[in-house]
Amino acid sequence: MKFLLKQAIFALSFMAVSTTAFASDPHWLYDEQAEWGEITDKTVTVKPPYPYAECSLGQKQSPVDLGTAKAVSSMNLLQPKYLEEPLVISNNGHTVKVNAKAGNLMIGSEKYDLLQYHIHAPSEHVINGKTYPLEIHFVHGTPDGKLAVLGVFAEEGKVNIEFQKILAHSPNDVKDVSVAGVTINPNKLLPIVKSKFFLYAGSLTTPPCSEGVNWYVLKTPIQLSKTQIADFEKFYADNARHDQPLNGRQVLNK
Ligand SMILES: [Zn+2]
Repeated sequence: MKFLLKQAIFALSFMAVSTTAFASDPHWLYDEQAEWGEITDKTVTVKPPYPYAECSLGQKQSPVDLGTAKAVSSMNLLQPKYLEEPLVISNNGHTVKVNAKAGNLMIGSEKYDLLQYHIHAPSEHVINGKTYPLEIHFVHGTPDGKLAVLGVFAEEGKVNIEFQKILAHSPNDVKDVSVAGVTINPNKLLPIVKSKFFLYAGSLTTPPCSEGVNWYVLKTPIQLSKTQIADFEKFYADNARHDQPLNGRQVLNK
């Protein structure tokens, strides 16, 4: 009953603000994440009735605690080749997301196109239980459907000018905005120094929690000012999935 009511309220409020594609997916909330796998889709009669079942049945879910990582001496190099491009930003009801059309991440010799990047507060990945105030996910894909996400932690420190553009232009309502005359350079949301990283096999951290996602989480955080962190939290203060069991997976680090 609780879900029915919340879904009905969401559907009504949603129709008022947006006609975008999100409306077809059953609604979910971070404060009900233990039940994501049991959310039912009332709008279709086809099986399975639980479109987000992988969130509870999956054995390779994300995020995880990276604290158990085992060091390895050789691993594919990560080389972000991101490009400055016009700012297209959306608030999708779960996060603030910047859409990307250009730029890619080289993982060894394989090229992954940058699709979008978005923000969680606090961080989703933890290290021996420790969270960072914020984590940015750069989502990449290959033409044949492989996914890789680069995670970048943010700690409190200096102002990041590029991040300020995201704060300044994020819509308050659920919608996409092309910001006239403003460009953003995702390279400036990465650590200045070449960072070591964690690697493991995981999933999307939001419903439908699909597995087959390779995660690369940088060890070196970027800095954002205390005000910037607080300003992001005015949009989303707790849009982080809790860490999931490793179920025998190894986290590697380099
Ligand atoms: Zn994410």
